[in-house]
Amino acid sequence: MTYKADSYGHQFIKISPRNTTQTCHDYGFVMGTDDTEKLTLAGREWTCPNCGTRHIRDRNAAKNILDKGIAKLS
Ligand SMILES: [Zn+2]
Repeated sequence: MTYKADSYGHQFIKISPRNTTQTCHDYGFVMGTDDTEKLTLAGREWTCPNCGTRHIRDRNAAKNILDKGIAKLS
């Protein structure tokens, strides 16, 4: 992956996948805290109980992963 990224002039950054799926991208609420149930792999979409935002699971996780990568750069 690192080699591939380099050859296209991109940077490859490793981040911890911890909670990238369980965290609401909008306000940072983490599922599984405050008496909420952790999300299961069966659910493709979910609604954040904290802010009410409807998320597509993988899209929400991708935004969190991107944020973590950008945070590592700065
Ligand atoms: Zn939320």
